[in-house]
Amino acid sequence: MPRGPCTLQSLQTKVYFACYGSIVVSVGKGMKIWMNGSLVDAEDAKVHVLTHALHYATGIFEGIRCYESGGGGNGSYIFRLHDHVKRFFSSAKIYMMDVQYGFDDIVDAIIDTVKANGMRNCYIRPIAYYSYGRMGVNPLPNKVDVAIAVWKWDEYLSAEQGIRCMVSSWRRIDARTMPVGAKATANYANSALARIEALKNGFDEAIMLNINGMVAEASAENVFMVRDGVLCTPPTTDGALAGITRDTVLQIAKHEGIMCEVRSISRDELYLADEAFLTGTAAGIKPIVMIDNRKVGDGGVGVITKRLKGIYEDVVRGRDERFVKWLTYVEMDSSTATKP
Ligand code: PMP
Repeated sequence: MPRGPCTLQSLQTKVYFACYGSIVVSVGKGMKIWMNGSLVDAEDAKVHVLTHALHYATGIFEGIRCYESGGGGNGSYIFRLHDHVKRFFSSAKIYMMDVQYGFDDIVDAIIDTVKANGMRNCYIRPIAYYSYGRMGVNPLPNKVDVAIAVWKWDEYLSAEQGIRCMVSSWRRIDARTMPVGAKATANYANSALARIEALKNGFDEAIMLNINGMVAEASAENVFMVRDGVLCTPPTTDGALAGITRDTVLQIAKHEGIMCEVRSISRDELYLADEAFLTGTAAGIKPIVMIDNRKVGDGGVGVITKRLKGIYEDVVRGRDERFVKWLTYVEMDSSTATKP
């Protein structure tokens, strides 16, 4: 797997790369992407340069993961598929998108795309966007197109020993300006600026405050802290996305008897946390060991963080009976299944 920034040379090969931090994602030759009802070769999954969403950020998307079953066999599990598809349609509703496919169509299309690519561990990216037709800010005259791609994305924010975060100078977008409950492409311009700033300053990730100075979320993850044994995360009304991993962690914590609070968190409270971590589909549970050059707790991965991370990794692979309701089993064709 190539690493480092995309080069023209890499783009000229028959493999197409997208860069996320230092991780290079490849959707290569022989892979399939679902576009408007059919599976097409990845090389042919193209959009017009005058696509509305490219100019005006009028797209919504999801990030879902599929994990190789921890119980052997030839299958994989898509984690909380129905919850992700529900959020996909909620985001589309906010942007008044007339998606031509129903809930079950998208669920089936996601399963078909995973199976067609035979990837037992993968990241799944469904996107709906106002397409090519009429330019101008109003998107409504344009058809809404839908695509689903999968790729291998092992380590988003790699740092097993914990990551170092900075509090960004960019404030998280505010609900009075943008609908923060929609997982919209437009929101990620704000995220990208924060992430660039963090990386350029030598940190792994940015934590953004809302316009009132309270913790909102990271560029693509929710934020948790542990103080005096209590697990805390900001409410969605402070600008946090209703993350599915966030909800998963809160539900696991309740089952485990860990006290949880969904409440506002100030910047200085983060500095005084005993433990802190980020949650997200791509990132999983990522311990934070430093914030703005201050050690979190003793600077190691916290006990509660470690415990929740361990349980989470079992849950997503079907090794925890209590949460199998969250898994959609996908049987892979043994002739095509790869073990990336
Ligand atoms: N906040 C933002 C801004 C995100 O992009 C994500 C990733 N979808 C999250 C939080 C975490 O959400 P989830 O756990 O559903 O992936």
